[in-house]
Amino acid sequence: MTVGVKVMKRPGAKVSYLRATLKGMALTFSHLFRPKVTMQYPEEKSSQDWTLSPRWRGTHRMLTDEQGRAKCVACGLCPQICPANCIKLVPGEDEHGNRYPLIYEIDEFRCVFCGYCQEVCPEEAIHVGVHYENSEFSRDRFVYDLERLCAQTHPVSTLWDPSDPKGE
Ligand code: SF4
Ligand code: SF4
Repeated sequence: MTVGVKVMKRPGAKVSYLRATLKGMALTFSHLFRPKVTMQYPEEKSSQDWTLSPRWRGTHRMLTDEQGRAKCVACGLCPQICPANCIKLVPGEDEHGNRYPLIYEIDEFRCVFCGYCQEVCPEEAIHVGVHYENSEFSRDRFVYDLERLCAQTHPVSTLWDPSDPKGE
């Protein structure tokens, strides 16, 4: 197979860059009169034009029942399916044989926010959330225990909606 080579001529010594410069400056100045798209975060967090998708997968949240107890029944499915191996579960059992989590922790730092834990949960207890402001100063603060997961109040992710594949 032959490969065609196009030889480009170098501009001569008398070429002026004035035209290209003016063209570039005109383009720059034209942006001064266009509507601004910059958002002054964190003062502005959402607007009519920009909001987080309801399918956003962010900080986890554990839903609770009417008594304020975690809905988790310590079935063990979410730590089993978690590809990042970042869920720690120690199951317990009360005198009636009901299972509950003695320890339930998620390391948000290791999590890849795939949403599998939410998908697999038979009790719809654990959810990824429509939330992203979870920065911390130390790594251990990213390990959310059960109390902290239950205290989250942000909306939960709707994940995949087959009737709305583009999230519109
Ligand atoms: S979102 Fe995925 S990676 Fe994160 S805890 Fe759930 S299953 Fe694990
Ligand atoms: S899948 Fe749901 S019920 Fe099972 S251990 Fe995880 S959070 Fe608890």
